[in-house]
Amino acid sequence: MPRTDIPAWLDKAQIMAALENTQAPTEAELQAIFDKSLALESLNLQEIARLLAVQSPEGVKALCEAAAKVKEKVYGDRIVLTAPLHISSFCSGERADMLASCVRKNRSAIAESTRNLLREGHKRVLIIAETLGEDGFDGVLEAVHTVYSVREKGSEVRRANVNLTPLRKEDYEALRDADVGSCNVYQETYDEDVYASHYGDGPKGDFVQRLEAVEMALAAGLQDVGLGLMLGLGPWKYDVLALALHAAHIERSFGVGVSPINLHRIAGNAVNPVADDEYIRATAIVRLALPCAGIILNTCKAAGPWREACRYGCSQIITGSVVDPNEPAVPVKEVVRYLVQETHHMPSFCCACPRLGRCGDNFLSVVHEAGSIASQCGPNSLASFAEYLHHYAEKDIVDAGLSLIQEKLEAMPLHIRGAAEKLLQKIELGRVDEFI
Ligand code: SF4
Repeated sequence: MPRTDIPAWLDKAQIMAALENTQAPTEAELQAIFDKSLALESLNLQEIARLLAVQSPEGVKALCEAAAKVKEKVYGDRIVLTAPLHISSFCSGERADMLASCVRKNRSAIAESTRNLLREGHKRVLIIAETLGEDGFDGVLEAVHTVYSVREKGSEVRRANVNLTPLRKEDYEALRDADVGSCNVYQETYDEDVYASHYGDGPKGDFVQRLEAVEMALAAGLQDVGLGLMLGLGPWKYDVLALALHAAHIERSFGVGVSPINLHRIAGNAVNPVADDEYIRATAIVRLALPCAGIILNTCKAAGPWREACRYGCSQIITGSVVDPNEPAVPVKEVVRYLVQETHHMPSFCCACPRLGRCGDNFLSVVHEAGSIASQCGPNSLASFAEYLHHYAEKDIVDAGLSLIQEKLEAMPLHIRGAAEKLLQKIELGRVDEFI
């Protein structure tokens, strides 16, 4: 039986009142909110509701620009690229008969998928399983070990993150021991009525269990936990406010900020459709609300709204769908091409922080003390991208990529530029996996 004891922090009446009673801010009020985000302070419910009330084209433009500035301050101009790896066939998980039709990929199929991703140049993988198959959690754990065990022409997965259905504490402990990076649990929507009408009492029907999953993961010793929205399932403004309340609750309870935040937009059959411009606004508002959090968008379709949204607060892109393994992933070279040629962001395959123990509250203390992680992201991203260009990229991207690296080097403060040049020299000599 799904639980009904919704925790006190998810106060629906409070969220609805904030949405209904909050006026759009004046220019001065808006600037004060931007200044707070730029000082890397999380916004409160009222401030986020004010941002959600902004409707004027000038206000929305200012909001998007402020989000881009906050992201630039915290992470610099890099965007990390991660590959999705679905370990089971598509399953919406809405009904038991659909769950039963889910097919878990076997070990050799997972190894082959991993090899394909390595051949493309990926170093980071997001293992996705929204439901457990007949082999239960053991199948997930075996997938993690398999992904880490694959070697392809001297290359290997340097970071495996997971996006999973809620698990038991001992399962999260096993993931911690298997060296999994961030552990993501999509709440999908925080509107319990929409959630219940969508999932009923099927295998994904326990709304409260899902709400508490990341707390279980933290209690088990995982350091990075991520939340996620399926924008288009519940009302998006409600979900953005509730997500911020969830993040605040975790920070109060565990003394650690939530990161990353996953924002997926449902493309078809949305219960509460979200337009492209609303998706972009949602991304920008989440960036302003939680300035230090990683924000992940996924590509789903080559021409999807991620192309525009990635300019306004996004720090990471999943190069494919996190929902449907049957949707063709956008090849990483296409995402790289877009970033290099259109947005001039630095594509990054960097995995330095988790490998140096800059995780969870350690990571956030570095960000808060220095006001940024950009002095590490800059050199590391350049080095990881140079490695990609040397080993995986097509000729036209190599030229454009090397020009972008040069452009970014010249824009760096001298002390950071020195560190970047040292890393680049090592990559030039054929070394790999260089970082600070
Ligand atoms: Fe990410 Fe850390 Fe690398 Fe920056 S230095 S790209 S935060 S892993």
